[in-house]
Amino acid sequence: MMVVMKEDATAEQVDAVIRQVEGVGASAHVSRGELMTVIGVIGDREHVSNIELEGAPGVDHVVPILKPYKLASAQLKKGGRTVIDIDGRKIGGPHFMTIAGPCTVESREVLLEGARTVRDAGASLLRGGAYKPRTSPYSFQGLGDAGLRLLAEAKAETGLPIVTELMDVRDIEAVLEVADVIQVGARNMQNYTLLTEIGRSGRPVLLKRGLSATLEDLLMAAEYVLKEGNEDVILCERGIRTFEPAYRFTLDLMAVPVLKELSHLPVVVDPSHAAGKRDLVLSMSLAAAAAGADGIIVETHPEPDEAICDGPQAVRGEDFADYMRQVERAAALAGKELQPVG
Ligand code: PEP
Ligand code: MN
Repeated sequence: MMVVMKEDATAEQVDAVIRQVEGVGASAHVSRGELMTVIGVIGDREHVSNIELEGAPGVDHVVPILKPYKLASAQLKKGGRTVIDIDGRKIGGPHFMTIAGPCTVESREVLLEGARTVRDAGASLLRGGAYKPRTSPYSFQGLGDAGLRLLAEAKAETGLPIVTELMDVRDIEAVLEVADVIQVGARNMQNYTLLTEIGRSGRPVLLKRGLSATLEDLLMAAEYVLKEGNEDVILCERGIRTFEPAYRFTLDLMAVPVLKELSHLPVVVDPSHAAGKRDLVLSMSLAAAAAGADGIIVETHPEPDEAICDGPQAVRGEDFADYMRQVERAAALAGKELQPVG
């Protein structure tokens, strides 16, 4: 349930509620808004229902949250949206963000060239995997630690914050040294140990929807991160597996408005992995912006025909600036604020 404090509630009254909640073995998640403080109460339903909070000093009202995800639920923020600030770039609420870069870090030259293209076109964050989840164990698995070092170099040169995937909890320290946003890939969406550790790290997370995950599964996965006190979770629709073989995955764009109705968290769309083909990426990006997405994460490569992985779906480097302009126009039409230039 959620305890909404009165606008003039004192810090002592908030503390008293927290003590009562913790007294029955539940945990209190305090969210201090501009006008009022809201306390999310998470714990065993039976114990929680025994706490007498209605009418307690400083308490305005108590709202039961019926969804199995509590902290991710839209009810928690009463219509307010989570805005995440990544080194001055914002996502969520009115803000639209473009994240772009290669599928994987291949070499210093290719990464730096791609990073400059992404920066010059005005994208906010650079993506690139050093640890790659590949369907075949015989495919390139990523450069690992060496790839992380190249990402750090690309950040130092372009100033772009980095989004990179963490696959294994054993690599968390190394990834935290470089990642401004940790990506959790579709295949790891339900790796609960990983989600808990990332939650504890406090670093923003881009959580990709699993290939056969429902929206509720995705929100429950987000809950694992939020439960550890990390409020910076970005949800990502990247296509789900259906019976249709004409494209790599089916991009479920209805997930965008529905997730935004169910949750206060920002929602981005990855048109690249859903499409699997470059020709579909622009139209799906425009459709995502029109559907109200808070951002796009897209693959681009200076020479897609030479790319080690996912080349067929990468926007060509020479086309990227034009691609960005069109996506930004669609986002602006949908009422979004673009990132300030420079
Ligand atoms: C990726 O972003 O390169 C990736 C492997 O994505 P997903 O986990 O969505 O397949
Ligand atoms: Mn990829």
